[in-house]
Amino acid sequence: MQVTGKAKLIRYTADPEQTIALAAKLCYASDDIDELIEKIGDKDNAKFINILTKMNHFSPFEHASFTFALEGVSRALLAQITRHRIASFSVRSQRYVSEGEFNYILPPAIKELGKAAEEKYVSQMNQMLTWYREWQEALGGDGEKSNEDARFVLPNACETKMIVTMNARELMHFFALRCCNRAQWEIRDIAWQMLSEVMKVAPAVFGNSGPGCLNGACPEGKKSCGRPNEIKEKHAALTKGLTK
Ligand SMILES: Cc1cc2nc3c(=O)[nH]c(=O)nc-3n(C[C@H](O)[C@H](O)[C@H](O)COP(=O)(O)OP(=O)(O)OC[C@H]3O[C@@H](n4cnc5c(N)ncnc54)[C@H](O)[C@@H]3O)c2cc1C
Repeated sequence: MQVTGKAKLIRYTADPEQTIALAAKLCYASDDIDELIEKIGDKDNAKFINILTKMNHFSPFEHASFTFALEGVSRALLAQITRHRIASFSVRSQRYVSEGEFNYILPPAIKELGKAAEEKYVSQMNQMLTWYREWQEALGGDGEKSNEDARFVLPNACETKMIVTMNARELMHFFALRCCNRAQWEIRDIAWQMLSEVMKVAPAVFGNSGPGCLNGACPEGKKSCGRPNEIKEKHAALTKGLTK
């Protein structure tokens, strides 16, 4: 079955902006912790977080974590997202879970080629499913021992699900790389979904997050997509109505 990628924010540090502000204020204040917590109270910390950002004082941002559930994403995406080493991952196993009915992702560019191309792709997926089941059977039927080797004939298109946790600093770095038009379409789409989710709960932290061209010159040089305005418009649509 064809599926499409979804990113859902499922948990995050309570009061992420206050947590970051508290960690940063502690660096500069002589108060005891209880005094500091009391001083911070329910204060709006947006201005202070903006100052920290301008100063490049990013270590306090590591105290706020965000956990996402990703599904309908490919193993190709898995290979890319797990390159981000400051993140934590739990991924559905292809040993413990049979892929005897695997879902797959259809790249939009193949879909755009038309019905015949899509049918060819679906038939190729079905062929791989047949090969997988044949090897499962030959290796003793559905089970950990057979699944672990039968999976070698599965495609990168095969769907996976995962839980991903990143702190705010790592997320900002992730968005800079993966919301960029130079990033591959699937991880880019997921990154924008993740950005949209965290902006709602920590607008002062993530309100200006995104690819480098949002806040200055494109860092990609000659490889730049040359479409910063498109990025700015997409970003503005996400931040509409938010108080940063
Ligand atoms: C458009 C694009 C194309 C890509 N193409 C390729 C490719 O062709 N081949 C390929 O292999 N990869 C490719 N990548 C992946 C890329 O090289 C990185 O592995 C990936 O983006 C993770 O980035 P990172 O290492 O900065 O981030 P993270 O692992 O999330 O780390 C965050 C930051 O922490 C610091 N850090 C983390 N670990 C260390 C460490 N061990 N030592 C010192 N500092 C550390 C660094 O400052 C790093 O930027 C591509 C990425 C993008 C966005």
